[in-house]
Amino acid sequence: MKLLSVASEIYPLIKTGGLADVAGALPGALAGQGVQVRTLVPGYPAVIARLGKAKAVRRYDALFGAGASVLAATVDGLDLLVLDAPDFFAREGGPYGDHGGNDWNDNWRRFAALSRAGADIAADGVKGWRPDIVHVHDWQAAMTAAYMRFGPAAQVPKVVTIHNLAFQGRYSAGIFPDLGLPPEAWGVDGVEYYGGTGYLKAGLVSADAITTVSPTYAQEIRSAVHGMGLDGLINGRVDRLHGILNGVDTDIWNPATDGLIAKPYSARALGGRAANRRALERRFGLDHDGAPICIIVSRLTWQKGMDMMIDAAEHLVAMGGKLAVLGSGDHPLEGALLGAADRHRGRIGVQIGYDEPLSHLMQAGGDAILIPSRFEPCGLTQLYALRYGCVPVVARVGGLADTVIDANEAAVGAGAATGIVFMPSDPLALHGAINRLIDLHGDKLAWQAMQRAGMRADFSWRHSAAKYADLYRALMAEAA
Ligand code: ADP
Repeated sequence: MKLLSVASEIYPLIKTGGLADVAGALPGALAGQGVQVRTLVPGYPAVIARLGKAKAVRRYDALFGAGASVLAATVDGLDLLVLDAPDFFAREGGPYGDHGGNDWNDNWRRFAALSRAGADIAADGVKGWRPDIVHVHDWQAAMTAAYMRFGPAAQVPKVVTIHNLAFQGRYSAGIFPDLGLPPEAWGVDGVEYYGGTGYLKAGLVSADAITTVSPTYAQEIRSAVHGMGLDGLINGRVDRLHGILNGVDTDIWNPATDGLIAKPYSARALGGRAANRRALERRFGLDHDGAPICIIVSRLTWQKGMDMMIDAAEHLVAMGGKLAVLGSGDHPLEGALLGAADRHRGRIGVQIGYDEPLSHLMQAGGDAILIPSRFEPCGLTQLYALRYGCVPVVARVGGLADTVIDANEAAVGAGAATGIVFMPSDPLALHGAINRLIDLHGDKLAWQAMQRAGMRADFSWRHSAAKYADLYRALMAEAA
């Protein structure tokens, strides 16, 4: 089976969050299921720099007004098709905006171009390679499904995956004439969305299957609270909706072989964590003592509950704990966390920024990871934490609810507990969870049992890749 994936990020070339990890890991996992994946990504500078020998397999004189070509190359085992359109993608800054965090004002055009190129590849193939199925990720690629549906590749099955419903790609109605779609694409069954243009919405009505990244999130987005305006549409297509949990790339995230940590270790020899713990303390200027180190590796945003962490950090310190934070995001939250670190030297350390190697050391050296998200489609950091023996303390939402087993008495008694799960996602419950964490950490045997149970849990891509492959096969059978 030949599959075209379209994504705006892919690890290890360009990453702002979990989407990149998934787009980078799924092709390898699907290969084991007999699915050959080629991934179309934008030609950002970080991507072009890694291409080496690349062949142009398609050219445009004017794609949304810009000269463009599609380059084929293999990088780190990933079979890539890169949309090289310098007017759109050769920019300093992030994939979606400048260094100051402001979105590019032509994002509607940049990602319509990516999607158009995806639909063109679906229709014509490249150099004799034509996909049997197309799988696109999030709003940046969702329009691929709309271009396919209203173009020559209408019969090719298309899957749209929602990694986060909060980001929808909403623009004015005024851009519609420039999108190159036929007039019938405008309307409630097309790209029109509350009087404007909705990219994710257009993808969701055009897809043959909608997937999201955990079973619980698939249920939650059917409600007004989590549906973000799309719950009506999603409920109308519930027979097409699937929740498939993300996996972990077990080669990249393996404490026994990880070259980015101070000392490798395994579930059988947890003592190896001590060297990582010390390295983490040094790195964040934390006191060397036996108090539990909580870590946070996160976008610093309301979704992630990071506003609640300012008070919670004070509480953690008052209870005797320590905190190491790595993240970036909302400037007031960054400032507030840095302020807390200033007030509590030796107990709280904060690094603002994005640092992939440091995130590995934190999982290896931290005792617990705090994830008080208000919503969490899947969440990957709790999965990495489980694998590294860093006990997750999570809000009971989305993928967090699906992946962590709360240390209630029954679970502890059965040796099944892997973390602490609290609800609702509010400050009071978070404080309560911190109290439980401090208590549990004091019971060394119970704590190690939790670490080992988490490390034993299998969150590799194996099961999920099989589910995707089954879905693709069912869609192809339906289309035949
Ligand atoms: P989201 O995609 O919503 O940001 P996920 O938990 O699904 O959240 O994925 C986040 C990914 O980004 C994980 O791989 C995490 O380790 C990584 N990450 C987040 N913030 C940072 C940071 N500041 N430095 C390094 N890695 C980070």
